[in-house]
Amino acid sequence: MSIQQLPPHLINQIAAGEVVERPASVIKELLENSLDAGAQSVVIDVEQGGVKRIRVRDDGCGIAKHELNLALARHATSKIGSMEDLEQVMSMGFRGEALPSIASVSRLSLTSAIESAETGWRLQLDGGAELQGLEPYPHPTGTTVEVQDLFYNVPARRKFLKTERTEFNHLEQVVRRLAMSYFDVGFELRHNQRQSFRLPPAKDQQGMDRRVAEICGNPFIEQSVVIDESGAGLRLWGWIGLPAFSRSQMDMQYFYVNARMIRDKVVNHAVKLGYADVLYHGRFPAFVLHLEMDPTLVDVNAHPTKHEVRFRDSRLVHGFISKTIKRVLGELTPENSAVNALPATVMTAAGEAPTGATMPLNLSETAGNSRAYAPPNLPSQRQVSEQLAGYQALSDGIKQTTQMNPPESGVAPMGYAMAQLHGIYILAQNEQGLVVVDMHAAHERITYERMKQIHAENAMRSQPLLVPVSLSVSQREADLVESSQKLLAGLGLSLDRSGPEKVIIRAVPSLLRAADAESLVRDLLADLVTRGSSSAMHEAINEILSTMACHGSVRANRRLSIDEMNSLLRDMEATERSGQCNHGRPTWVQMSIDQLDKLFMRGQ
Ligand code: ADP
Ligand code: MG
Repeated sequence: MSIQQLPPHLINQIAAGEVVERPASVIKELLENSLDAGAQSVVIDVEQGGVKRIRVRDDGCGIAKHELNLALARHATSKIGSMEDLEQVMSMGFRGEALPSIASVSRLSLTSAIESAETGWRLQLDGGAELQGLEPYPHPTGTTVEVQDLFYNVPARRKFLKTERTEFNHLEQVVRRLAMSYFDVGFELRHNQRQSFRLPPAKDQQGMDRRVAEICGNPFIEQSVVIDESGAGLRLWGWIGLPAFSRSQMDMQYFYVNARMIRDKVVNHAVKLGYADVLYHGRFPAFVLHLEMDPTLVDVNAHPTKHEVRFRDSRLVHGFISKTIKRVLGELTPENSAVNALPATVMTAAGEAPTGATMPLNLSETAGNSRAYAPPNLPSQRQVSEQLAGYQALSDGIKQTTQMNPPESGVAPMGYAMAQLHGIYILAQNEQGLVVVDMHAAHERITYERMKQIHAENAMRSQPLLVPVSLSVSQREADLVESSQKLLAGLGLSLDRSGPEKVIIRAVPSLLRAADAESLVRDLLADLVTRGSSSAMHEAINEILSTMACHGSVRANRRLSIDEMNSLLRDMEATERSGQCNHGRPTWVQMSIDQLDKLFMRGQ
C-alpha cells in the first residue's frame, strides 16, 4: 500500500478511540465544555445508560453562529492560542478534539445561542458528516449538545459496552466527581426520565457539606474534618475522613489539582503517608481534597484523558500533602476533635438508653448473685464486685455533684475519672458532660507515640529480666535474631540465640516492662519474619513499634485506680493523635449534657 493522507473522518475516529471509550467519557467531555463556558447550571438527560442518548444543556456563554462549524472541527479550540497558554491551562479542555471525535462515532446535534443573538443555531451531524447546513433553532443563551446512538458506526467498540446499569454508573460517577469540583454550579441528572440527583449550587460551607454528603453519604461528612491549609505556594482544602471511617477499598478518594480530578502516584503515596500511623493495615482513607497551585508548576497535558498530571516539583507537593494531613490528624486531640461522628453514635444509643440506664440499680439489688448478672466475659465474683464498685461510683457521681479539683493549669479537657466500666471503659466527667474512654486503645496510642519518640531519639532503655526467658522458635526466627542484633538493641530488647531453634530473652524495653515478655517477643519475631530483611524492618519500624506498644498496654479487665485513670486522661491530653488508637478506632467519645438531656427527654 502506498502512503496516503487519511481522510478527516477517519482521523477523528482514530482520535475517538483515545478520548471516547464509553458514555462516561462523552459526558466528561461535554460537561467540561459546559464548565469551561462558565455555566451556572447544567441539566443532563441520559437514556439507556447513555448509549441511546446523552443530552447536556447549559447556560454558559454559548457559541456564535459563525463558530459552530469550527467547534466541530479538529484541533479547533477557543481555550489556548500559544505554547505559553498551554503551560498555564486553567480550563478543563484545550485539545480541541472532543467534539469532532464524539461526532465521528455518533449522531450529534449542537445547538447554541450567545447573549446578543436573536436566535439560536443548530448543526446536526451523522457519523461526523453534516446533515444539512446551519438552521435557526430557538435556544436561550447557552448550549445543548445531544449525542445519540453512540458507536452505531463502530461495532467493535459497541461490543465492549457493558450493561445499561454499568454504563450509567460510570457516567454518574463522572458527574459526581465534577460536582465536587464545581460547587457553585447546579447539576441535574436524569436517567430514562427519572431523576438521579439534583444538586443546587453550593455557595457556602454548609451547602458544600450538603453536596458532599449527597455524593459520599452522610456518614462521611459526619466522620470527617474540613481542612484548608496553605503554604509554599500551595493550598490544600476539602474533607478528610477520620481514621475510624476507613474503607476496605479506595472507592472514596477524590483528589483534584486546580479543579481537575486526577489519579497520581505521588499524591496517593503522600495521602497514605499522612494517614500512616492511624489506619489499620489494608484499610484505605476516604477524602475529597483540592490542591490549588500555580498552573505553570503542573503539566496537565500528560495524557489525553487528562487524568494524570506531572508536577514540576513533586517532592514539594508530596511533602506538603503528607505533612498537612498528618498534622491535621495529629491535632485531633481531645480539645478540638468534637469527634464529628458523635451525633450519629448518640442517636443509635438513644433507642437502647432506658434499659441501659436501669442496669446499675438491678445490679446493686442483686449484688450477692454474681452468676445471674455477670456478663459472659466477666465471670469471676471478684470482677463483678469490682464492677459494682464502679457502678456505685458512677451513680454516686451522678447523685452528688462530683468534686473536681482543677489541675494547676486549670484545664482538663478530658475531665476527671469517676469510674471504670466493665473493666474496659473509663467514665470521666468534663466541662461538657460525660467522657467515655476505651482504656486499652488509649493506652496503646500513648505507649506507641512515646516509643516512636524515644526510638527516634535513639534513647530506648531496657530493663533486664530477673530470670531470662528461654523460647523455642523456628530456625528462621533464630537466624533473624542473630542477624538483627542492632535493630533489636535499638528497640530496647536483649535477645540472643542459644541454639539452632532457641533464643533467650534477657531484657525488654523499660516502657514495656509490664508486658508478657514471651508473647511480646513471639509477636515481634512473627512481624520480623514477614518483613524478611533488616532494611525492610527499618522501613517498617513504626509498624513494629505499634506491635510492641500493643503488648505494653493495659489489658481489658484490669482494674485501674482513680489516680491511674486520671493520669491516663492527662497523658491523652498531652499525646498527639490520642483521638484514635493505632488501628484507627476512636479512643474516646464525648457525650454532652445536651445530648444526655435529649436521651432523657429533659426540658422538652
Ligand atoms: P476543547 O474543549 O478542547 O477546546 P472541544 O472539541 O471540546 O475542544 O470544543 C471545541 C470548542 O467548542 C471549545 O473550545 C469551545 O469554544 C466550543 N464549545 C464546546 N462546547 C461548548 C459549550 N458547551 N459552550 C460554549 N462553547 C463550547
Ligand atoms: Mg472540550
